[in-house]
Amino acid sequence: MAYSYDDQNIFARILRGEIPNDTVLETEHTLAFRDIQPQAPVHVLVIPKGAYVSYDHFAAEATDAEIADLNRVIARICRDEGVSLENGEGFRMITNAGRHGVQEVPHMHVHILGGRPLGRMLS
Ligand code: IMP
Repeated sequence: MAYSYDDQNIFARILRGEIPNDTVLETEHTLAFRDIQPQAPVHVLVIPKGAYVSYDHFAAEATDAEIADLNRVIARICRDEGVSLENGEGFRMITNAGRHGVQEVPHMHVHILGGRPLGRMLS
């Protein structure tokens, strides 16, 4: 079964400029913006500009340039938002996929959360 991408999802509309967003950083392949319902003082969403539904879709089919760009953006945001281990107290990255992952928006995104102790998630 192939991955199926719905180009009417809200992040696709943000990428087309149809819906405003609070951009943190934009590069050739990646857009990062603040979550509209932040769960922590730092809550940034990082998305590829390409039409990937989930992290596994992105990791399987994106180009090396797209994958490298997204990861460099994550590193820059962590540093710029002061949550990197270079200059802060740490962060959490989450990517939800599909029904069991309780993914709300079907365009691949990584949440970066930080700015407060986040509590234990896995034990
Ligand atoms: P998911 O459950 O991982 O798919 O999370 C989707 C996230 O997108 C949620 O944290 C929402 O608050 C966030 N979100 C939905 N619409 C917008 C928007 O228009 N701008 C910014 N964040 C949004």
